Amino acid sequence: MSQRAIQILSPRLANQIAAGEVVERPASVVKELIENCLDAGATRIDVEIEQGGIKLIRVRDNGSGIRKDDLPLSLSRHATSKVYSLDELEALGSLGFRGEALASVASVSRLTLTSKPADQENAWQVQSQGRDMDSEVSPAAHTDGTTVEVRDLFFNTPARRKFLRTEKTEFNHLEEVIKRQALSRFDVAFSLRHNNKTIHSLRPAHSTAEQQRRIAQLLKPEFMQNSLIIDVERAGLKMQGWVGLPTFSRSMADMQYFFVNGRVVRDKVIAHAVKQAYRDVLYHGRQPCFVLYLELDSSGVDVNVHPTKHEVRFRDQRLVHDFLFSQLHHALAQVRPGGELNPIQ
Ligand code: ADP
Ligand code: MG
Repeated sequence: MSQRAIQILSPRLANQIAAGEVVERPASVVKELIENCLDAGATRIDVEIEQGGIKLIRVRDNGSGIRKDDLPLSLSRHATSKVYSLDELEALGSLGFRGEALASVASVSRLTLTSKPADQENAWQVQSQGRDMDSEVSPAAHTDGTTVEVRDLFFNTPARRKFLRTEKTEFNHLEEVIKRQALSRFDVAFSLRHNNKTIHSLRPAHSTAEQQRRIAQLLKPEFMQNSLIIDVERAGLKMQGWVGLPTFSRSMADMQYFFVNGRVVRDKVIAHAVKQAYRDVLYHGRQPCFVLYLELDSSGVDVNVHPTKHEVRFRDQRLVHDFLFSQLHHALAQVRPGGELNPIQ
């Protein structure tokens, strides 16, 4: 074969390739959209979907909105209002920062973005049909905040569409995302409607009792009756939350929620520390349940490890591991008669 000429990828193709990393399925779209709402300071987020999100995902918030002039740019790749410099990336307070999500989703769906900042009189809208962005804005009706509507995900990338599973499976993934987000921000109201049916409707939960009610609603009511409250702080590390009693375990690791500085995180160091702490009190093959929040200085953790931002890297892994292990081990030891660890053999 003769050597083909080198060309720069068109923006559309570059976005579609990037979408492969960020947008796997409807659930990943919802995750990105909700993160944007939270970054915009929303106190209420309403999610509406059809056919497990395959046909429609609509996420509405009451956050800061996007200015009319910024609307077309918000759908371009590497367009972000959150990070202007490397220094800012290191002290990141927002969930988003790569400026990729909207461009990626827009390149593989029919996307409509409607927004109104509070100080702008009217709402405006941009649309993409999976093509290179149409920078035309048109007037629209919307209260303060933003709505992103995503229709027909992967309509123009049949190979990706083939990987979508049944409506039920996609819905389950998507609901899981909402659960995590709702657990990460008790102060925000969330709702989820699927095929015109209300699945979740959560008011802001400020007191511990309200938070426990939200957890019971999202997970299982029994979890609250079978868990211990954790609230510890040492050497700049702070951990709060709820851990299930060893008697309330599961066969699958499907009730495990760990948040680092407000982000949902899956991490080997954390998983290992928790597993070790439960090791002597759980039957072999059983999985603990927990909802835990770790806070540490942002300089101690790198969030820019992977496009989906599920992973983090701790500067001092040992410190984090030992803190988690010792605190959880200690807490679990308290529930044994006499406060002593009495391992199940
Ligand atoms: P990132 O979140 O990494 O900045 P995105 O592609 O997700 O990248 O979003 C691009 C930009 O669009 C954001 O930086 C923000 O300025 C704007 N934006 C997106 N969604 C919203 C929203 N719901 N409310 C306000 N601004 C938004
Ligand atoms: Mg984002």
